[in-house]
Amino acid sequence: MELGRKLVQLVVALLTNGYWGFPVTRTIYQGPLKVVCSPGLNCFSCPAATTYCPIGALQQLMMSLRLNLENARYFFGWYVLGCIGVVGAFLGRLVCGWACPFGFIQELLHKIPSRKFSVPRPLRFVKYFILLFFVILLPLLVVSEYGLGEPWFCKYICPAGTLEAGLPLLWLQPNLRNTIGLLFYGKLIILLFFVGWSILASRPFCRVACPLGAFYALFSRARLVKLQLDPVKCTQCEACHRVCPMGVKFNESPDDAECITCLACMDRACKFDAISLTVGGIPLRSGELSKVVTEKSR
Ligand code: SF4
Ligand code: SF4
Repeated sequence: MELGRKLVQLVVALLTNGYWGFPVTRTIYQGPLKVVCSPGLNCFSCPAATTYCPIGALQQLMMSLRLNLENARYFFGWYVLGCIGVVGAFLGRLVCGWACPFGFIQELLHKIPSRKFSVPRPLRFVKYFILLFFVILLPLLVVSEYGLGEPWFCKYICPAGTLEAGLPLLWLQPNLRNTIGLLFYGKLIILLFFVGWSILASRPFCRVACPLGAFYALFSRARLVKLQLDPVKCTQCEACHRVCPMGVKFNESPDDAECITCLACMDRACKFDAISLTVGGIPLRSGELSKVVTEKSR
């Protein structure tokens, strides 16, 4: 199943970044697909991006909300909220595990051989702060004389934007290099920090800083597709915790907001058939390892 997940991650990354004419046109794709909301974090300004980023769109919504209201334009971007709301209600953070290009990049970086470290659990709350302040409140409340806000997360933090858009656009449009300033160097430092951290620890940006992960995490209890624990079969051996890329103790917290439904615990750790994948509470499949153990013990 891990190979299947990697294939899905690759296909989604290629589909959401499927415009390969950019080395010739030297600009970003602006065709009809650009009205489609990407499920994962994928910068709108990436030259190859065929879709738009839900966090970028959410900020745009917040930035212009006051101006729209003042001018009696009651357009609130329900489409953006609807898209990520529906995806979140069905899948929650399964999107992070299967359909986020930036999550995929971090997983590949983590394969580089090095000493590995855990991410301190309390740091997971930082991403809720980033969602609330940098994506919602600051773009809404800090406005120019014309009543427009700024995209605080994209402008000051997003390492996916620097990697997928900032650096490629500097390569494609040399005249932009004259405009580089402190802001760009600051974002480059944030990108390099997360690249280095991803080699040493599993998915640090997803666990600590991603506002989209924070948004999808709000659906962790209510989402339709999720893993369930059978407390009768669970022996508390904690093998699930040892393989989890997000540091979840599944046996203690089966609805954990950090779970990205990568299925590693179900397929590669639990020998006791205590974990199953369910849709709306109906079991869809259980672990491959438990079937092997059951076969051998016959
Ligand atoms: S709890 Fe299981 S499915 Fe969830 S992230 Fe950890 S290993 Fe993956
Ligand atoms: S690996 Fe299975 S049996 Fe062991 S603690 Fe996790 S859920 Fe329980």
